[in-house]
Amino acid sequence: MDYKQHIKIVEDWPKEGIKFKDITPLMADGKAYKAAVDEIVTYAKEKEIDIVVGPEARGFIVGCPVSYALEIGFAPVRKEGKLPREVIKVDYGLEYGTNVLTIHKDAIKPGQRVLITDDLLATGGTIEATIKLVEELGGIVVGCAFLVELSYLDGKEKLKDYDVLTLMTY
Ligand code: AMP
Repeated sequence: MDYKQHIKIVEDWPKEGIKFKDITPLMADGKAYKAAVDEIVTYAKEKEIDIVVGPEARGFIVGCPVSYALEIGFAPVRKEGKLPREVIKVDYGLEYGTNVLTIHKDAIKPGQRVLITDDLLATGGTIEATIKLVEELGGIVVGCAFLVELSYLDGKEKLKDYDVLTLMTY
């Protein structure tokens, strides 16, 4: 499947110099969205995962249908102040300033095999922070799956100890 025909590149958004990869046209095409999710489901089956974890918001778009297809759980990773019960958190650096991500303390049981999903791998900071949360709870990250990888930002270097699936590379 040629997924790239369904990705719209928006120049200088949200700021100058960024070529934003808009995945909403892919989601809007039922066949393309299903084909992309199915590839990740196949990968997840090979990895014998117990649960899917994804950072808000686009990690949900990729991860929740995988959970549904495999009849396994999904645990959301969210920005600080969004999850209602006891959380653990991690700070990570952004281009300007820092961000905080959280996960419910009981979201993952020690030893569970985890697939992490997001729409896009850029610098890898978001996924690195998500991995930290999962591992702090005792989860085993057996794979990370993305629709899009920006290879020029070298996010894969941060994930070199992990197995990574990407469906499109720019
Ligand atoms: P990073 O932490 O640098 O790997 O950034 C990944 C997160 O930022 C992903 O959740 C993406 O949704 C978003 N993101 C970063 N760069 C882009 C881009 N060029 N186009 C679309 N989304 C992006």
